[in-house]
Amino acid sequence: MIGGSLAGSAAACALARAGARVIVLEKARFPRDKVCGCFLSDEALPVLGRMGLGEELRRNEAETITRFRLVRRDGIAVESLLPKPAMSISRGRLDSLAAKAAERAGARMRFSTTVLSVEGDLQRGFRVKGLDWELRARAVVGAWGRYSPLDGRLGRTFIRRKPTLFGFGKMLAGNSERLTSRAVLHSLEGGYLGLSRVEEGRINLAGLVTAAVARRAHSSLDELLSEAAHKSRALAADLEGLSPLTGPVLLSEPVHLGAHGALAGGVLCVGDAAGVIDPYTGTGMSLALLFGEAVAAPLAGFLAKDLDADELRHAHLRRHREIAGRRFFLSRLFRPFFSGGVASRFVSPAAAPIACWAARATRA
Ligand SMILES: Cc1cc2nc3c(=O)[nH]c(=O)nc-3n(C[C@H](O)[C@H](O)[C@H](O)COP(=O)(O)OP(=O)(O)OC[C@H]3O[C@@H](n4cnc5c(N)ncnc54)[C@H](O)[C@@H]3O)c2cc1C
Repeated sequence: MIGGSLAGSAAACALARAGARVIVLEKARFPRDKVCGCFLSDEALPVLGRMGLGEELRRNEAETITRFRLVRRDGIAVESLLPKPAMSISRGRLDSLAAKAAERAGARMRFSTTVLSVEGDLQRGFRVKGLDWELRARAVVGAWGRYSPLDGRLGRTFIRRKPTLFGFGKMLAGNSERLTSRAVLHSLEGGYLGLSRVEEGRINLAGLVTAAVARRAHSSLDELLSEAAHKSRALAADLEGLSPLTGPVLLSEPVHLGAHGALAGGVLCVGDAAGVIDPYTGTGMSLALLFGEAVAAPLAGFLAKDLDADELRHAHLRRHREIAGRRFFLSRLFRPFFSGGVASRFVSPAAAPIACWAARATRA
């Protein structure tokens, strides 16, 4: 596995349990923070349960989220019950739990290990290389997330497009009563930002915005937030009494929304490496876990020589299509209502049932 976050850990956990020898190469050292809204939709929970993490999530005080609020730039809000309760937990905590689950299942985790190149194919096997090491593998799973130099080296074309969107994130602390059981998405000029409580009374703030806004968020988040709060009383109320914890504002890699393909050469891609769903859906982490878990059965079949390379590729693509369904299309369709453009003017309290329907439609 290249990448040991959610998709990589879910794949490693299921594949190691199926009896394969699995090594996970992860460039970061866990725990580490990551730009993410931390909203874990209900579809993630059964996968995390199968990874043996149901009880640990509760023990780690993940916040239960039952309501979703969408707020326009002028402060007008739509609130709706979620189709099913979701959770909110920091990526520092969640990704470490997932990696530990993979380790418990028998996968070997190698942190601080950056993969620089992958050569080979499913017939001959692969050579995976880092700065001063090399290893051989019968199969490689790409779980390296939304953007990596590996995409370019494997000839993936999306990476040549000019990046237009970036994520930013910051943990806040303070009185967050108003956010109890709620995830809130505020439209901004140039994108949107989400707020939700995570463990230890902290509040996660994350936004997806244009490059210019991301630069401002990075250099002067306070100024950006107070300007937006000046236009939206709802944002001002949500931020009241909250202050940023120490440390820099995190910026993400470029975010190229859309499906990128579940195969890169002979590498089986899962999670964001296979496609980036718009974060407003709150389903990127669930998809990463679902795609990661789903790659294990066909891959175990291939390693046991029950499937040949072609059959593995087809089974992987089929499973990927089944899980993705129409989500990428629908998330693109609804995007204008969330991204602060003209369509977001149609967001009104009377639209709450439609918001609820949209939440269902972008899930399985
Ligand atoms: C602003 C924003 C807000 C979001 N909010 C939400 C939300 O609220 N809810 C939700 O469900 N989703 C959200 N998402 C999406 C979510 O973050 C992703 O869908 C999810 O992290 C995908 O998981 P993954 O395991 O595929 O990739 P990642 O979590 O990105 O993990 C990839 C891993 O691969 C490692 N890696 C990369 N390159 C290499 C290499 N060469 N060698 C070794 N390791 C490597 C990285 O260090 C990383 O740990 C949001 C995204 C953004 C940008």
